[in-house]
Amino acid sequence: MRRKNNNFDKYKKTNKPKGRGPSKSVKGFEKVKATCIGISEEGKGLIRYKEDLVGVPHLMTGEEALIEISSNGKFHNAKLISVIKKSEDRIKPKCKYYYDCGGCQLQHMTDEAQAKHKEEMVRRLMKPFGKVDEIISMKTPYEYRNKIHSAFTTVGKGEVTSGIYKENTHSVIPVENCIIQDKRADEILKTIRKMANVYRLKVYNEKTRNGFLRHVLIRTGFTSNQIMVVFVVTDKVFPAKSKFIKELITKHPEINTVLMNINRRATSIVLGEEEKVLYGKGAIQDTLCGLTFKISAKSFYQINPVQTEKLYNKAVEYANLKGDETVIDAYSGIGTISLIASKNAKEVIGVELNKDAVKNAITNAKINNIRNARFYQGDAGEFMVGVAKERGTIDTVFMDPPRSGSDDKFLSSVVKLSPKQIIYISCNPVTQVRDLKYLTKKGYRVEKIQPVDMFPQTFHVETVVKLVKSKSKKRY
Ligand code: SAH
Repeated sequence: MRRKNNNFDKYKKTNKPKGRGPSKSVKGFEKVKATCIGISEEGKGLIRYKEDLVGVPHLMTGEEALIEISSNGKFHNAKLISVIKKSEDRIKPKCKYYYDCGGCQLQHMTDEAQAKHKEEMVRRLMKPFGKVDEIISMKTPYEYRNKIHSAFTTVGKGEVTSGIYKENTHSVIPVENCIIQDKRADEILKTIRKMANVYRLKVYNEKTRNGFLRHVLIRTGFTSNQIMVVFVVTDKVFPAKSKFIKELITKHPEINTVLMNINRRATSIVLGEEEKVLYGKGAIQDTLCGLTFKISAKSFYQINPVQTEKLYNKAVEYANLKGDETVIDAYSGIGTISLIASKNAKEVIGVELNKDAVKNAITNAKINNIRNARFYQGDAGEFMVGVAKERGTIDTVFMDPPRSGSDDKFLSSVVKLSPKQIIYISCNPVTQVRDLKYLTKKGYRVEKIQPVDMFPQTFHVETVVKLVKSKSKKRY
């Protein structure tokens, strides 16, 4: 039986598996034939196995497949062996690393099927709150990433190469080109790989914690064409630094700035605290919605500039500011939303945790000659508690928290400040729904919901939601 609203989380454990059951059992592995009943929020095809729902990578709704399942108590790990009945929307992935890499999860689906899946997913999750508009998808959903991270590793007899961490592991899969990344970054990366071998740079080893070179981060300005290269290393002493940088710049004069970031910690967080500019100004600029933004290595900046403009335009359209409002932009990053909204507001107050991003935001206000925006560094929740004590009300709140969503401190203070409207932008509809439940119980009503495909080929989706103060404190 298929549930009408497709709410997989609530699926009863007592339901019998729809697959034809185990066909073979080999040392803790079981092979089953099953039909995919939908796609999870992580882009995996869902099958029923015993009393559970199990996610199978690269499987599509309606497909029948042979699947290998290994179980560790209640935890099942599934691997697709072969598809018996294929979906009409299945295509051959464009990337040769797709099945090993894990960076993308939906490349086996047509672009249209990916967009449809994301739209339906948002619709399913947001069902309690109202109508979801058609997803804003990307016309050419490739080569969009303006930021790339690549980890270094050695292969064969110690040859240095770079690539992407295999999903949920610490092993690096050598990747020479990536179809969702800016091509210019791929070319620079190719040169860096070669040079790392010529200069015999020692790759960092996570187990022994020896070695020098950990990662490289490349940021490309979409409209400005400016490029930043950041070497993440374990030591301030960069071997043959001047010669290395000179050669890199000669080979790639399109690079504007090179930095090294020192990260000695045994951590999966790429960037360390300390950084040093080796060439250029240490930051790049880019243009979004007609404004110029300075971006430092450690600041957050949306990774898909084409779709970001559409996202911000939608958020500003939802806010429909008239010019006399006081606006809070929480989780403001380098001040993008604040400064775009400032044109139509009396005053904008941005709050952001990352120090470098706040510095960028202040500079960005100056670069764009904007005088009615102020930025504060701190935890958005703490900040809002203070604002709620000091100020009576606020007219509009934009909020754009990280994937984990917002917190009680922030949300309860927003409710106290009682803005007429809240524009909630999120890259994780699951935590967004959790926060919407809170706000809709505390006197807000969801008026509009707009998904935007900011991350084609991956399971991620961005959603803008407009909430307004409801007259009655009715629950949804
Ligand atoms: N609105 C910005 C940034 C959104 S990303 C843009 O569109 O570019 C989320 C931001 O929240 C990041 O810049 C991150 O540094 C910041 N952040 C994370 N936790 C925070 C917290 N507790 N308080 C304030 N900002 C936080």
